[in-house]
Amino acid sequence: MTEIDQKKLLENKFSQSPLPFYNPEVYETKLGLSYLREPGVAIISIPHVDLSGAQGFLDGFPRELEFFKYLEDPTPLPSSESLCKFAGQLCFLSHGPQRTLNDEAAKYFHNIKESGHGSVLEHANISILMWGISRSLTHELVRHRAGFGFSQVSQRYVGGRTLRFVERPEYVEDKFLHELFEDRIERTQREYEGITEYLLEKQKAGSEILSADRKTDLRKKVRQAARSLLPNETEAPLVITGNVRAWRHFLNMRGSEHAEVEIRRAAFETYRCLSQVAPLLFEDFAVAHLSDGTHGLKTLFPKV
Ligand SMILES: Cc1cc2nc3c(=O)[nH]c(=O)nc-3n(C[C@H](O)[C@H](O)[C@H](O)COP(=O)(O)OP(=O)(O)OC[C@H]3O[C@@H](n4cnc5c(N)ncnc54)[C@H](O)[C@@H]3O)c2cc1C
Repeated sequence: MTEIDQKKLLENKFSQSPLPFYNPEVYETKLGLSYLREPGVAIISIPHVDLSGAQGFLDGFPRELEFFKYLEDPTPLPSSESLCKFAGQLCFLSHGPQRTLNDEAAKYFHNIKESGHGSVLEHANISILMWGISRSLTHELVRHRAGFGFSQVSQRYVGGRTLRFVERPEYVEDKFLHELFEDRIERTQREYEGITEYLLEKQKAGSEILSADRKTDLRKKVRQAARSLLPNETEAPLVITGNVRAWRHFLNMRGSEHAEVEIRRAAFETYRCLSQVAPLLFEDFAVAHLSDGTHGLKTLFPKV
């Protein structure tokens, strides 16, 4: 892997919104069925940090320690860094004038990563909306357990006009594979709608296995049967909340050259967003060009 100009990549295609996002194009087949070719990534929540309540705690220590001046540090930090640094400095009661000040926060976090003191990074939670990703990607994504929470679109409740698909990068440039893809998803959608209508008719006619007491359960009974034919390339958006330690582990595993190309792309866009809201916590990741023309991620501190 060779390193490329990170700054240029970070500037590429990003909005000026306060919280970063990457908004991919939505395409349509000849019959108007929607599909995407790239992951969409939007940071929708970062920590809101207000340390003013800690003043009473700091005031309670002997005056000569000067802990009471801790919050007067003139250098502001992004919220995730501010929270993690405060939590980390609490461990050694490093609140006096000898502590690492905010203008040296980069050095502080380098030491945290180098010493593997990753629990400090678990305080900052960041929520991300991901879309334009396939069901096969999300099957891999939800294998990440520690520090993550997931809410994913339910195929038992949702279908019909909201059904969208994801085209693999290998198909995009290949006319034959691309046409097969468009034909296949149109066929899939037709079959899905056909089965749904057939099951609804059976339900109305009193089919026992499709019966339910509540209206939403009736719909669920139909959709949960009809979804069985949906392919891996069905879009499966989700909201993921993860702490910074968990996100770092995700980037390391899924930004690796060994990761599958679609999830690596999602990891890369995620990195581009995360590195804008918490730059010091992700600055050790280097972007790399891989031999297949895609981007990967690498860090010297993989297991913080
Ligand atoms: C290139 C690649 C290929 C893969 N191939 C396959 C495959 O063929 N088949 C397959 O099934 N999976 C495969 N996976 C998925 C992989 O095995 C993991 O399930 C996934 O990457 C999540 O990693 P994790 O468990 O480290 O992450 P998390 O679940 O987020 O856990 C983070 C860390 O917390 C600790 N931890 C979490 N849970 C426990 C626990 N219960 N006990 C002890 N420590 C824990 C571990 O240190 C772990 O690394 C692959 C992943 C990659 C990146």
